[in-house]
Amino acid sequence: MPEKKIFKACKNCRALLPPETATCPLCNSTSFSEDWNGMVIIISQDSEVGKIFGASTPWRYAITIK
Ligand SMILES: [Zn+2]
Repeated sequence: MPEKKIFKACKNCRALLPPETATCPLCNSTSFSEDWNGMVIIISQDSEVGKIFGASTPWRYAITIK
């Protein structure tokens, strides 16, 4: 699956966004990377995964960004 072609990752908050996104809707960063690995989807900000991951907004996030 060519996940890396579908999304780019915000370097600030690790949110995965469509390639045409100019500004991260979560943190307003304009710094992105297309070199990322792994995806975690946070459904609830109260979830254990969200707490461990430090994600405050339900979204899809990259696990690692180079
Ligand atoms: Zn961001």
